[in-house]
Amino acid sequence: MAKPKIATTSLAGCFGCHMSLLDIDERILDLIEIVDFDKSPINDIKTFTGRCRIGLVEGGCANEENVEVLRAFREHCDILIALGECAIMGDIPAMRNLVPLRECLDEAYVNGPSVYNPSGAVPNDEEIPLLLDKVYPINEVVKIDYFLPGCPPSADTIWQALVALLKDKPLDLPYELIKYD
Ligand code: SF4
Repeated sequence: MAKPKIATTSLAGCFGCHMSLLDIDERILDLIEIVDFDKSPINDIKTFTGRCRIGLVEGGCANEENVEVLRAFREHCDILIALGECAIMGDIPAMRNLVPLRECLDEAYVNGPSVYNPSGAVPNDEEIPLLLDKVYPINEVVKIDYFLPGCPPSADTIWQALVALLKDKPLDLPYELIKYD
């Protein structure tokens, strides 16, 4: 029987949540006994090859490409998990939400104290995804089934969540895995 598939992606995140997934260490061998990885930076598969049981999404939506990828994950995955604070709340990338987008671009490319840009042009190549007006938590763009908090969620949190969901068990994580104080 074909194994269920897992897909992962990093939107506006730092890949720290993916590093935490890899921190399950030797349990990754157990994981690949029961699942195949589909589209993911872990195996560098760029496009979905079929229906996925679980999609893990790190990072919020900061640009139009993030939105496109996120919608593709919703379309292809039975269960979609917001992995970490950037996906859940925007986290550090969302600090730009405090400033109008035009001012952010001006500071980054035109008038910032360390900027040298005689032309005064803001990069606008058509290959560069357009920035959204602000950074959005992913649940404001598509329906999310589960949220794993933390920056990043611990390897044990990710492991226990995956095992429970793959075994069709309720996601009932112990308090110590989801408290951050
Ligand atoms: S939640 Fe933390 S570790 Fe995960 S992508 Fe965001 S900043 Fe990185």
